[in-house]
Amino acid sequence: MKFADLHLHTHFSDGTFSPEELAGHGQRLGFAALALTDHDSVEGCPRMAEACGVADIEFISGTELTAEHNDIELHLLGYFVDTQNEKLLADIARFQTTRQNRIREMVARLNALNIPLEAETVFALANCKSPGRPHVARALVKAGLCQSLDEAFERFLKKNRPAWVPKAKVSALEGIELIHQAGGLAVMAHPGLNRTDDVIPVLVDAGLDGIECFHTKHSTATSRRYLGIADKFHLLVTGGSDCHGFSKGKPLIGTVKLPYEHVEKLKEAVSRKTVEPLNR
Ligand code: AMP
Ligand code: ZN
Ligand code: FE
Ligand code: FE
Repeated sequence: MKFADLHLHTHFSDGTFSPEELAGHGQRLGFAALALTDHDSVEGCPRMAEACGVADIEFISGTELTAEHNDIELHLLGYFVDTQNEKLLADIARFQTTRQNRIREMVARLNALNIPLEAETVFALANCKSPGRPHVARALVKAGLCQSLDEAFERFLKKNRPAWVPKAKVSALEGIELIHQAGGLAVMAHPGLNRTDDVIPVLVDAGLDGIECFHTKHSTATSRRYLGIADKFHLLVTGGSDCHGFSKGKPLIGTVKLPYEHVEKLKEAVSRKTVEPLNR
């Protein structure tokens, strides 16, 4: 059986692995295909493509956009996007600036709580253009201001905690369009985490291509539920570990194994999309 993991992060966003380390784990675990889906970034894709080539693993370029619809946050995975697409790169640059400003605001809120952390410390630790809350949490732990990442999120960074700052997000409909114009397929990430079921029909009307049925945090029942929804709306099925590095001492990659037949279907769908305009 051939398997894929289509949801992975590197240090180009809030993961801790390099593309080479991630490809190495993929090879060790026997994956046939991997996709890189860093938050609001495609920067790691060229290196990941190279590393997967060396490891004889098929690589799918991707990104994970933080989007919203009617004030509900949802994550959109874009697969097979052209990582040189000008509009995609311009919009991603804006999302990254928003992320950087948000870090400054979160740090200001921590300072108002007498937590002496500096934004520059977070940026130095993050060392990427797409910083996020995990970097603030790691900086708090590194500075001895929190005992653990969990404590940092629970005390300060979780939604509605005192240092949480809402993030300006792209509308989901614009996000789908952005992925499409970059030649990609738009997939709703981990629907079981965001409680976004009511939004699915709206996004399907806007051209949503698929839904992430298999995810580390989906129970068997949750995966089954979204397989049913995929069937109902004729959506492609994806899945991945959402590996950000080590989790409880082990890399999360390997915990979700998407049967390769779903990758075949994704490839068929994206090739239909790119062929269609020529036939008109
Ligand atoms: P951000 O994009 O800055 O809002 O950060 C979101 C990321 O933070 C997610 O992709 C997770 O990696 C991580 N995250 C969110 N909630 C928690 C939590 N309670 N504990 C640890 N990590 C979390
Ligand atoms: Zn993340
Ligand atoms: Fe996500
Ligand atoms: Fe993710």
